[in-house]
Amino acid sequence: MAQESLKIDHILYLLTLDQERRIIQDAAVLVENGRIRRVGKAAELADARADRVIDGRSMVVTPGFFNGHMHISYAHPVRGIFPDEQASPLVHVFNLQSAMTEDEEYHATLLGLIELVKSGTVCFLDPGSTKFPDACLQAYQDAGIRVILGECVTDEESPWALPRFPPAEAVARTESFISKWNGKLDGRIRAWAMPFSYETCSTGLLQALKRVADEHRTGLTLHHNTGQKARQDSVVRYGHTPTAYLQSIGVIGPGVLLAHCLGIDEGEVDCIARTGTTVAMCPVTAAKSGRGVPEHGRMPELLARGVKIALGCDSPNNSNHLDIVRAMNMAAIQYKDARQDLRQVPAEAALEMATLHGAQAMSLGDELGSIEAGKKADLVCFDTQRPEWQALWNPVNNLVYNADGRSVHTVVIDGRVVVDGYRQTFADEPRLFGKVQEIGERLQARTGITFPRSKWPMG
Ligand SMILES: [Zn+2]
Repeated sequence: MAQESLKIDHILYLLTLDQERRIIQDAAVLVENGRIRRVGKAAELADARADRVIDGRSMVVTPGFFNGHMHISYAHPVRGIFPDEQASPLVHVFNLQSAMTEDEEYHATLLGLIELVKSGTVCFLDPGSTKFPDACLQAYQDAGIRVILGECVTDEESPWALPRFPPAEAVARTESFISKWNGKLDGRIRAWAMPFSYETCSTGLLQALKRVADEHRTGLTLHHNTGQKARQDSVVRYGHTPTAYLQSIGVIGPGVLLAHCLGIDEGEVDCIARTGTTVAMCPVTAAKSGRGVPEHGRMPELLARGVKIALGCDSPNNSNHLDIVRAMNMAAIQYKDARQDLRQVPAEAALEMATLHGAQAMSLGDELGSIEAGKKADLVCFDTQRPEWQALWNPVNNLVYNADGRSVHTVVIDGRVVVDGYRQTFADEPRLFGKVQEIGERLQARTGITFPRSKWPMG
């Protein structure tokens, strides 16, 4: 329930992510009307009274987490059906996605939101996979979460069942989507332009969508997961690498978020950095799907150039989990191994990507991403009274290398406690789990997309 004011008192370690990256021991935070009013030592805030006080003595408190690329529509009901060696599940993915009904998408979304908020995510970007946002609005409202939505559009042929429209219609649909959705739920919903990728959209469409985004002062995201063949095609077709092509047509710069960004070269890193373009990277998807991070991953180079990177979980059938703490862990360990260099992607950088830099990558950094007076009150309290948090000397290392999202105890979004002592109060979980399992059965029967359920004898 909404609180007029909330105080978290005697916090064991408060990771502020402020300008100096202060970590305050025995800290307190005062929240009033959805905003952080005061931050400091508990003794400094001893006079601060609040309607509710949360005891932070065993808590590590961080800013809320941002998930910059999270397809939330189809996958929960069929999570885990693809065998490991299924080379390219994408054709099945888009067929399953396009077969979802309104009611099915609502329930899958609700389950996704529960998994997100319970592991500390306060904001995610769905890259246009939600077909029935009207039906899902209630779920966003109930969960109290922040969402960046859009309608996925393409106007060229693609090997997948993507929504394809004549360019003028794609532009009109994007424009009306943004007009309708941007700013709903007290600003917790943002609407962006969402062309699927440069390979599936004409130059004219990409430029028109960028204009729409600029006119509405909002963002644009697209898949930029190029790979060897796409790069060669781009050079043949446009005379440029994929990123240089986007620059040549003006679809780059602040407010443009490139998803995945594997397989870019030094010139493209430079282009992204110089233009203020931002990036969402999905380290667990990259590893699980064998995308060749040692060869194609450029996270350290992007970080070195100051590019704002958000982490993403992609989809419950790509990374399979929606836990940004596990994504932080993968980001921090993946490049140490890939480069055989322990200096790559320190734990602190991983935490920055999940919080402040993620918020900046999603154009929300002015209001969110750190715990500072004046910012919106999005906070995550980790319960350290658990074996994986012991012993506790360096809370950043413990968070990134020991813990996962299951030690998230309490989550506050816009000053409202949405996860309270490990529990959410907006959905009946056992009933929902049964419902989503049933949806998965129906969806597989309807589409004929099924796989042997186990390599081992089961029954
Ligand atoms: Zn995607």
